[in-house]
Amino acid sequence: MYCKNCGKEIDDNAQVCPECGVNQRSTGRSIQDASKSRLVVGLIGIFLGVLGIHNFILGYTNRGITQLVLTIVGAVLTCGIVTFIVWIWTLIESIKILTGEIKEDAYGNPLTD
Ligand SMILES: [Zn+2]
Repeated sequence: MYCKNCGKEIDDNAQVCPECGVNQRSTGRSIQDASKSRLVVGLIGIFLGVLGIHNFILGYTNRGITQLVLTIVGAVLTCGIVTFIVWIWTLIESIKILTGEIKEDAYGNPLTD
């Protein structure tokens, strides 16, 4: 890869450019966070929503953990009644993602089509 500051070729795993000393690892937002497909996240939400996966992908970690815990606890303690409610909840979220009502992830990165 090349240094994003001075353009000199540097090691792919380099944290800092040896030439100009600029950090190559962006803090907070990483490149992989920059664009997420609305379709992919929405479909993951439909199929794996009760596990909170789509919220983990979007960075809504607390909401994802809540759904995951409610799903497991609900399956054990309520014979799946609470799990069913979580499924409805995540289905609504997935539809909002697919229709564009939820436009961005937790970091403010817009979802792509
Ligand atoms: Zn450099």
